[in-house]
Amino acid sequence: MPRIAIISIMLEVNSFSPVTKEEDFRNSCYLVGDEILEEAAKAAPILAREIKPFIQAMNESGAWTPVPTVCTYYEPWGPIEEGFFKRYLAEVRSMLENEGPLDGIYICNHGAMAATHDEDPDGELYEMVRQVVGPDIPIVVTVDLHANISERMMDNADIIISYKTNPHIDQPERAVEAAHILRRMLAGEQFSKSLLRLPITPPSVRLLTGSQGTYADAIREARKAEQENDGLVSVSVVGSFSFADLSKCGMTIIAYGQEEAANDITKKLARDIWEKRDDFRVELTSIDEAIEKAVAAGRSGGAKKICLADVADNPGGGGCGNTTGILLPLIESGAENVCFGLFSDPDVAAEAHERGVGAVFEAVFNRKPAYEFTQTFAREVEVLHLSNGLVAGRRGCRAGRTMKLGLSAALKMGGITLLVISRRMQMYDPALIEEFALDIASFSTVALKSRGHFRAGFDIFFDDDEILEVDAPGLTTPVLTRFDWKALPRPCYPIDEDTTWDPLLK
Ligand SMILES: [Zn+2]
Repeated sequence: MPRIAIISIMLEVNSFSPVTKEEDFRNSCYLVGDEILEEAAKAAPILAREIKPFIQAMNESGAWTPVPTVCTYYEPWGPIEEGFFKRYLAEVRSMLENEGPLDGIYICNHGAMAATHDEDPDGELYEMVRQVVGPDIPIVVTVDLHANISERMMDNADIIISYKTNPHIDQPERAVEAAHILRRMLAGEQFSKSLLRLPITPPSVRLLTGSQGTYADAIREARKAEQENDGLVSVSVVGSFSFADLSKCGMTIIAYGQEEAANDITKKLARDIWEKRDDFRVELTSIDEAIEKAVAAGRSGGAKKICLADVADNPGGGGCGNTTGILLPLIESGAENVCFGLFSDPDVAAEAHERGVGAVFEAVFNRKPAYEFTQTFAREVEVLHLSNGLVAGRRGCRAGRTMKLGLSAALKMGGITLLVISRRMQMYDPALIEEFALDIASFSTVALKSRGHFRAGFDIFFDDDEILEVDAPGLTTPVLTRFDWKALPRPCYPIDEDTTWDPLLK
C-alpha cells in the first residue's frame, strides 16, 4: 500500500506588510499528524480547502496509507519569520525521515511566500522534501493562482498544479487532479516539464476568470489543451503575486506531459497573452464618485444598490483591514443604509463585547495605528450584535471551510452598520455578514474589504455592473506604479508600459 505524505503551508506574502510570526500561524491553523485527518473528516475544517478532497480522491482511487505531517496556514501578510520557517521545515523533515520509506508526496502550498531570510521559502521546502525522499519518489504540488514559481520549485517537484479560477473556487478540483496524477506516477508514468515566464506582473483585479479578458481566455485555452491533447497532463497559467516583490514574480506558464506538447503549449499561451497585454491595465472608480453613488443609492428607496470594493485594503492580499480611505468619507457623506466590513479592530470588538448588545458608547477606532493608511477616529456607536467569530463559509472561495474572525461585533454608526472583527479576514462570503443577523439584500450599499474573492460569494446579491472597485490608498492597491519596488524584475508590464519581449526567442 503506497505511503503518501501530506504537507501544507499556505501564506501569500505581501512584502510591504509586517513580518508573519509563529503565533500568527499557530492561532490560525497548525495541525500535526493525525490531527490533520481528524480535522479533514469534519464538515467544515479549518484546513486549506484542498486537503479534504485530496484525501477523498486518494481513498476513492485505491488503497493507500496517508502520512500526515504538518499543515499550517495564515491569511496573507508579510514575509515569514526565518526562525519559525526553519522550525517548520525541521519538524516536517523529521516526520518524513521517521515515517519513511514513503512512496509519494502531496504538498498543498500557496506558492507566493517570501521569508525574512530568503526570497524562495516555497522552493526551500520542496528542495528539502526532495533531499529526504530522493529523486525517484513523486512530489505533486498544488498552488494558488497567484503563486510565484521559481526554477527551484520546478526542479524539485514533479508536478505543480495551479488553481484555474479567480475568485478561487476550484481548490477541490485541483486537489482531485493532483491525486489522480499522483496515482499515474505511482504506476510508473513520468512527465516532461515546460516553464515560460513573461515580463508581466498583472494587477490581480485584471486576473478574473469569470468574465472575458486576456487572462480568462488563456485559462480557457489551457483547460482545452489539457482535455484535447493526449500529450498533456497539466497546464497552468500562474498569474503571479506582484506584492511579494521578488525576482521570481511574473506570470508563468507551466505545462507537463510529452516534451514537445508541453513546450508548444507554453509558447502558444505566452504569445497569446503577450499580444493582448493591454488588458492588464487598470481602471478604478475614484473615492468621490463611489461616495456619490452610495449616497444616491441610500436615497433611492431601494431602487438602486451598489457594492464598493476596497481593493486597496484587501486582507486577502496582505492588507491590514483597517484603512479609513473609504470609511471616513462615507461617514462624513451621511450615506444611509450602508453595511461596511470587515473592519479589523480587536480593541473596539473587545469593548463591544464587554458592554453588550444595546450599549451605546464612544468607540475609538485604530487606537494604535501601526500601519500607513490607517487613521485614529472616534464615533458614537450602538452595539447591534455580537459573535465569537467562528463562521462556516457557505458560498464561494471558503464554502465548507471554517473562518476565524475572533471576537466580532456589528455596530450602528449613523447610517452605517460597521462589522468589526479581531482577526484580519477579507469579505469572502455572505455568511460573514449573515453571522450578525443582518439581511444583505436590505442594504443599499455594501462596502467591503476584498480585491475580488467576494464576487464568488456575493454574485447572488450584485451584478458585475453594480460593483465598483474603488481607488483608495492601501497596501494592495492595483495601481502598481505607486510602490517602491525592490526586487520585482524590471521592466515588466504594465508598470513599465514600454516593456519589450520576443516570445519566439525564448
Ligand atoms: Zn490567490
